[in-house]
Amino acid sequence: MRPKRSALGVRRIVVKVGSAVLTQNDSVAQERMKALVEFLYELKKENEVILVSSGSVSAGYTRLNLDRNILSNKQALAAIGQPVLMHYYKNKFAKYNVIIAQVLVTAANLNRADDIQRVKNTIDTLLENGVIPIINENDATSTDELELGDNDQLSAYIAKYTDSDMLIILSDIDAYYDKDPRENADASVLKIVNDIPAGELEKIATPNNVFATGGIVTKLKAADYLLKSNKDMFLASGFDLSDVKSYMLDREHIGGTLFTCKGAE
Ligand code: GLU
Repeated sequence: MRPKRSALGVRRIVVKVGSAVLTQNDSVAQERMKALVEFLYELKKENEVILVSSGSVSAGYTRLNLDRNILSNKQALAAIGQPVLMHYYKNKFAKYNVIIAQVLVTAANLNRADDIQRVKNTIDTLLENGVIPIINENDATSTDELELGDNDQLSAYIAKYTDSDMLIILSDIDAYYDKDPRENADASVLKIVNDIPAGELEKIATPNNVFATGGIVTKLKAADYLLKSNKDMFLASGFDLSDVKSYMLDREHIGGTLFTCKGAE
């Protein structure tokens, strides 16, 4: 069993990875998942780590080509893909002797204080025993698909309700820019952001990938929610983990965006 985190000064960190990172050419992106698992193992040496993983629908689609525009098909794909994802995570973490656990939650759970407490108790117990909880929305049983909206939002709620210190989002979006980098070659990375301009949150979500539900807008909403709860969020590339590794393991901020209240006027 691990000592209590207050005694060690250990931080509790939620890492969220998106579908675009975990999928490549209609199959699970094994090399990227391998790199992610290696990073999580390194991070776990000094922190408690919770993973929020998307990718169940896209992993399901690697097994059965159902029309994913039909809601019941999408929910069926999530049910097929969730164990596929867990199988790969389990095998990759086995190399490091790390046990993983699957925790599926619904919007209904996160709207009820007693459910939130039970989710937290389960996660606390897993972390105390050195296990990495892997969380996703229970898409197959959600009455209205993606009730929570997206896993950016889900991971922000999980960070808050598990009393975590920060959220890391690993995405096909490698940072927050001063203008849309897809349309402006001169866009530059905002390395530290203390508050999100309200207008940004009103914009329509524009995911880059067919399986993704997010885009920068849902990331900014997650950041805004966490800033209001006095928690940090770091947004970095999930394709190339060098920025998140520099920031989290070497304490050097080279790329990626840190959303933080600290240092704000
Ligand atoms: N829960 C969905 C999945 O596992 C992902 C939701 C999202 O993309 O944020 O496929």
